[in-house]
Amino acid sequence: MEKKIPYKIYLSEEELPKAWYNLRADMVNKPAPLLNPETFQPMTAEELEQVFCKELVKQELDEDNAYIEIPEEIRDFYKMYRPAPLIRAYCLEEKLQTPAKIYYKFEGNNTSGSHKLNSAIAQAYYAKKQGLKGVTTETGAGQWGTALSMGCSYFGLDCKVYMVKCSYEQKPFRREVMRTYGASVTPSPSMDTEVGQRILAEHPGTSGSLGCAISEAVEVASKTEGYRYVLGSVMNQVMLHQSVIGLETLTALNKYGEKADIIIGCAGGGSNLGGLIAPFMGQKLRGEADYRFIAVEPASCPSLSRGKFVYDYCDTGKVCPLQKMYTLGSGFIPAANHAGGLRYHGMSATLSQLYHDGLMEAVTVPQTKVFEAAEYFARIEGILPAPESAHAIRVAIDEALKCKETGEEKTIVFGLTGTGYFDMYAYEKFHNGQMEDYVPSDEELEKAFAKLPQF
Ligand SMILES: *Cc1c(COP(=O)(O)O)cnc(C)c1O
Repeated sequence: MEKKIPYKIYLSEEELPKAWYNLRADMVNKPAPLLNPETFQPMTAEELEQVFCKELVKQELDEDNAYIEIPEEIRDFYKMYRPAPLIRAYCLEEKLQTPAKIYYKFEGNNTSGSHKLNSAIAQAYYAKKQGLKGVTTETGAGQWGTALSMGCSYFGLDCKVYMVKCSYEQKPFRREVMRTYGASVTPSPSMDTEVGQRILAEHPGTSGSLGCAISEAVEVASKTEGYRYVLGSVMNQVMLHQSVIGLETLTALNKYGEKADIIIGCAGGGSNLGGLIAPFMGQKLRGEADYRFIAVEPASCPSLSRGKFVYDYCDTGKVCPLQKMYTLGSGFIPAANHAGGLRYHGMSATLSQLYHDGLMEAVTVPQTKVFEAAEYFARIEGILPAPESAHAIRVAIDEALKCKETGEEKTIVFGLTGTGYFDMYAYEKFHNGQMEDYVPSDEELEKAFAKLPQF
């Protein structure tokens, strides 16, 4: 086969996007507003600014401007590791004997090992610009905490990270990377905060969850002078920053006259998927092109696939605003799945709305099938994927195999969000045949739904 398209499509620095794309501007049904957890009224900018950075609040609430300029300081940082390559998976196609064309956007080419740095550097920049001393945050698998520590050290900000306890214990090296960048790291739930104490009293011995860690980080930010809380996913502002992934992907495909048919991404809080699909979804909403979008979730934490589309708390401690989203209930503590970055009870409000409106699909995959795909991919394409990313690989392979049956030459694009070097404990479990596929029962889900806020 003649290979007209290179294995790796690299863009020039000039082609790095100059503005983020705000998908909400093109949505007819906008995501519902955030609600105050005490009054249940829509959150005002003033209220949000007590917890979040001012400029980020503006971005959070902006539903009108389709493009928001990327400040030069952020673009300069982006240039150290972006534009990220779009890779044509020729070797995988050949191994699968599929007529499908497979592309993946690789976001693992930076020390944080994931796409999270795209938003971390932006959030650190706005915090610094506001004159803050530091920020607090949560981290699950550790990628977000690492990315934020990098952003904070670059701009000279203090960084306090609350890390989900099971990851803290399973991933000591991640913790040390964060400390290398000057962050302080505390396992969550901790006794440092009121909400941590409360959660520990209710669930003694819990291995923690993102929801718990968020509550702790918010409490510390709101009680510490000169600090704000920043989030690595779920929020609209994060999806906005991550649109750089999709914008570059679209430019790279256009350069070679390629048109995607299916776009696939793993979905934890929805930021990489939202960022990857944003400009393509914009085209779909404006009637310019059509695509199939697939969100891939772990079977153990199926927010879109089995959740309810209602207002819910974004965190276990119920201190954050409420958001209308697909949720398993903020009291749902998912089984200790090895894709820590996907263990979140809710989903981005924007993606939730798009899914609700039938513009996007969602599928779930059990983790042993995910690791089978991860290992297969590593052996063929060379890159050792993060377990989160391998969810997208699994479904990309499944779609390519369907094309093999039907003979359709579809173009499949998926997001390879990061590398798995810090996930070898999970790979070890898989290799030893000790990995279990946990799927919550309907009864379990009902129990968490019963505690959804009623008003
Ligand atoms: C955090 C993370 C995810 C999931 O987060 P989203 O906000 O849903 O994108 C996926 N992959 C990697 C490598 C991550 O670090």
